[in-house]
Amino acid sequence: MKRLLLSKCLLIFSLIAFLGCDSQDDPVDPESYPGVDSRLWYFFDAFEREAKSRGIEVDLRASGLTGQIGNIDGANVAGGCNFHSSRPNEIILDSTFWSTLSFLQREMIVFHELGHCVLYREHREAVDVTGRCLSIMRSGLGQCRDGYSETTRDGYLNELFDPAFANEITP
Ligand SMILES: [Zn+2]
Repeated sequence: MKRLLLSKCLLIFSLIAFLGCDSQDDPVDPESYPGVDSRLWYFFDAFEREAKSRGIEVDLRASGLTGQIGNIDGANVAGGCNFHSSRPNEIILDSTFWSTLSFLQREMIVFHELGHCVLYREHREAVDVTGRCLSIMRSGLGQCRDGYSETTRDGYLNELFDPAFANEITP
């Protein structure tokens, strides 16, 4: 009888363990970034991984960079990087705009702001013969057309992390 009770407990525990594992399959990286909205964690982690695969060390936790999704005053402003001299830089993304974006568009806008805040990149409006933007660091005010997709992603990230375009990468 005792044995039967024990096995029932195990069944319940394994069910809990299964459910626990299931929730960890969520695409959001379970590792947290202090001071950063949890919806941005996946993209912060991806940015670090993409930098590393190109030989650039980026440690966003050590930088203290914060990231928020909130309301930005001003029409047609999707996001921004606020530089601070006395505290870590801060990324802000407009919540209304964010809610309309696809997964890839979200990655593009987060990487764009990290390009400013972490890689110290400025805007680049370069365009190819078809009118497509050559950089995700385009301002959005130019004439080029965004072409960030699964197939062009690698090329855009090569351009993003290309040291030739970085103004200053601090150690
Ligand atoms: Zn920008």
